[in-house]
Amino acid sequence: MSSQQIKEPRFFAAFGKGDYFKCGEDEKTRLGFWNFFAKGIKPYGYLFSLTYRYAIFPDRNTPVFGDCGARSYRFEEEPTIRGQKVTAQWAITQYEEYLREHVERYLVAPDHILIEGLSHKQLEQRREFNWTQAVNFRALVPDCDNTTAIAVAHGITTGERIDYARSLIDIGYKAIGLGGLVGIGSVKYTLSVVKAIVEALPPEIYVHAFGLCSPAYVKEFANLGVNSFDGSTHLQEGFKGIFLEAIEGQLRRHHCSSNRITIPFCGCVPCSLLSKMGIEPRLSNNRPNNLGRVVHNLESLVRSHRQATLSRRIVLVACVARKLDRASPAKELYCSQWFRTACKYASSTGWEVYFLSARHGLVHPDQVLQPYECNPKKRTRSQTKKWQTMVVNQLKELAPEGAQFTIIGGKAYYKGVKEQLEKVGSYTVSTPLNGLGIGWQLNWLKTHTPKYEQLSLLGLKETYA
Ligand SMILES: [Zn+2]
Repeated sequence: MSSQQIKEPRFFAAFGKGDYFKCGEDEKTRLGFWNFFAKGIKPYGYLFSLTYRYAIFPDRNTPVFGDCGARSYRFEEEPTIRGQKVTAQWAITQYEEYLREHVERYLVAPDHILIEGLSHKQLEQRREFNWTQAVNFRALVPDCDNTTAIAVAHGITTGERIDYARSLIDIGYKAIGLGGLVGIGSVKYTLSVVKAIVEALPPEIYVHAFGLCSPAYVKEFANLGVNSFDGSTHLQEGFKGIFLEAIEGQLRRHHCSSNRITIPFCGCVPCSLLSKMGIEPRLSNNRPNNLGRVVHNLESLVRSHRQATLSRRIVLVACVARKLDRASPAKELYCSQWFRTACKYASSTGWEVYFLSARHGLVHPDQVLQPYECNPKKRTRSQTKKWQTMVVNQLKELAPEGAQFTIIGGKAYYKGVKEQLEKVGSYTVSTPLNGLGIGWQLNWLKTHTPKYEQLSLLGLKETYA
């Protein structure tokens, strides 16, 4: 039952200018994305590009990533931002202006992307620019408690990227950025480039991948030991009217309408807070709603990263009233049609399977139990609280942080448990039967159980097949 926990790479969510909510009576209070994330599912930090002038920043304890936004001037001969020449000195002045106070900062030396199609001379000029800025930046920004200087390892070929990264390490960089990788090819090809570079560098070097944040990348980043990455999928998709849903480490896209809600209700933390502010992320009809969708998308994106990098996955099936009249292993004791159907589904997922009992809390399928009577709907408020706390503690003991739970059961079995676990830290809990009546629950379970899948790690096959 032991499992290797993969180290989750850190995600810095891109933040744009004007991406905030105005609220309060005078509309003077400004809320950034970070105001909508409690503990648990949230980005590690936020990425600010010098391309923009920002109105607001997260508090000083939130990690920040300062980037010079090389994509914005990639077609210019000479890098400029708002008419200013981009140099190491200029970048530092800018970073210090708005990220001075932050206790964890990653600051990127100015760079110019090497793109295919440039003349030999133009490429040489860019290489010269990159090297000069990296050297100057290194001298001006010492690594210290709160600051990590990063230089980007550009190259036309993977070999050039590796050689350049090594030169940067030689002049004292302890953190290397992999840039110019967006749009170079398929996910598989891009990952092969990342892998070749990471494997060529000493393991103690910090590696950041720029602009690659789809869960398909993140799973491999975790395996390769890439330390962090950033992205703006939440913004791009959100403003295009797309509402993202995280499902088992992938993103499902829903198209929003401007006048009719066609997407199921989402109970994520940002969506709950937004709905209290009268914001409806599932409609694409005004700026607050669109921005609300961006915040929801960010939570889905982070959730999909979490799901993609998790190793421990557990299905919890709620117990039922109908039981045998003698002491039996739990998987035989409960004997309603619903329970059998739920167990068939659970064993088809390939995840570990446990049961949630209204009396005992967490129960292993082989655990022998005496028949008992316990209706969770008849518990008092304080009994319910006690049960929830017991289950949360049992689950924390069962699985290390980072585990993913699916609870197959009604509200009485997940309410309180889901919220507490997700508050604890890096747990995710999904409740696919949320809001369904018993008939629809059976329907959902049957349609999600592959007909050919009778395999089980727990021997449930013999019992339920
Ligand atoms: Zn949501």
